[in-house]
Amino acid sequence: MALKIYNSLTKRKEEFKPLKEGEVRMYVCGPTVYDEPHIGHLRSAYVFEVVRNYFRHIKVKVDFARNVTDVDDKIIEKARSEGGSSDLKAEAAKVAQKYFKLYKMDLKRFGIQEPDFEPRATDYIPQMITLISSLIEKGHAYVVEGDVYFSVDSFENYGEVSHQRPDQMLEEIRLEPNAKKKNPLDFALWKQCKEGEPAWDSPWGKGRPGWHIECSAMSSSYFKGTFDIHGGGRDLIFPHHENENAQSRCGTGHAFVNGWMHHGLITIDGKKMSKSFKNFITLNDILKADAHFGAEILKITFLGTHYSMPLDYTPERVQMDRQVWKRFMEFFENARQAEKNGSRPSAKRLPGMYQAFREAMDNDFNTPEVLSLMHGLMHNTYKSGDPVAQVTAAWAIRNFGSEVFNIVFDQSIAVNQFKPEIEEAIVQRQAARKNKDFKTADELRARLLRDRNVELRDLPDDRTTWRVKL
Ligand SMILES: [Zn+2]
Repeated sequence: MALKIYNSLTKRKEEFKPLKEGEVRMYVCGPTVYDEPHIGHLRSAYVFEVVRNYFRHIKVKVDFARNVTDVDDKIIEKARSEGGSSDLKAEAAKVAQKYFKLYKMDLKRFGIQEPDFEPRATDYIPQMITLISSLIEKGHAYVVEGDVYFSVDSFENYGEVSHQRPDQMLEEIRLEPNAKKKNPLDFALWKQCKEGEPAWDSPWGKGRPGWHIECSAMSSSYFKGTFDIHGGGRDLIFPHHENENAQSRCGTGHAFVNGWMHHGLITIDGKKMSKSFKNFITLNDILKADAHFGAEILKITFLGTHYSMPLDYTPERVQMDRQVWKRFMEFFENARQAEKNGSRPSAKRLPGMYQAFREAMDNDFNTPEVLSLMHGLMHNTYKSGDPVAQVTAAWAIRNFGSEVFNIVFDQSIAVNQFKPEIEEAIVQRQAARKNKDFKTADELRARLLRDRNVELRDLPDDRTTWRVKL
């Protein structure tokens, strides 16, 4: 079976056909960095981490870009409230830098790898100006008193990403009246700066870019043409992605992207995470409650709901997923015993296991199905009392889990407390290997085995996973 992905543009599951054989180019809208990251940010990053891992698993090379919005009304607002200095531009840059760092740290703690390209909006102002100029030249944009607006009437496919009529779009964004716009749906490509706000020089005077133009400029300056997948949260479909699509198609004259992938959002006990409800949940909250397994259990929670669906995070769900995790741990404990007693995995004993995982993933990354296949395997092999079947199932779940889901399934509490140390050693060893310092690399591997009873496994895509040695 070939990989099928739901495309928001066509509203269909489509067979994935890369523009270049054996490669996928993927751009995902990253965070606007003005506050502490929460589990909504983690879900977004994790969804595309799993997608990226799975592509690699099926031997498709991935070129993955995720941007950072580091200039925005919310950042400026935060800079005003936090700022000690009178230089708002410097203060806003400080705010963005601070929260970008926190975001990166959380992703790292959650085991998510770096993207191949991570542009910040403020580094791409010249590219945005070039794109805006070309839109003006082609009659898709107009200048009014230092602002530049995109004219939605100039693009007949406007609405193709969100599948909405103009009246529905208007209702959704509830715009403030703006006499400068020819059509109320027109949106700002460039905004004239207000007194003291961060600003850059442009042909239209001092100002700053609109949010949507960032992603168009950054994705096209990196991929230099149509790319395969554009991703982000469902909340970005309109207006952000609708507008990105319009700008890029009109500015470049070619298709923007082949497929759009949107993930569902997280609610907390049925409510949207928001300042007014004070219901943000952060990775820190989760690790405070369970330093050992909080992160892995959260991954189970994410995987248990299809990426495209909303996920309601409740105490009952956390409790349920904790039980799921416990079952995995007990199963691996038994398998370890069986291995100690001499049983070895034999793929012949349980044929088609990996194939079943892959078929589920090929169906629009159906991770809940993979989890349920894993449960079925654990249940059946445990009930069979056949130790070879048990260690074989453990072997398959462990490998697929670490390679595609970044989960270390068979860890014990004893080893888990050394997790930061183990992961640090892996990073050091990778650096040593990169510098061809194989002596240090071997020493690090030997040390983990000697001191922590942990074995390393190098994956073909240069990542390294670990497991408890028997
Ligand atoms: Zn974007």
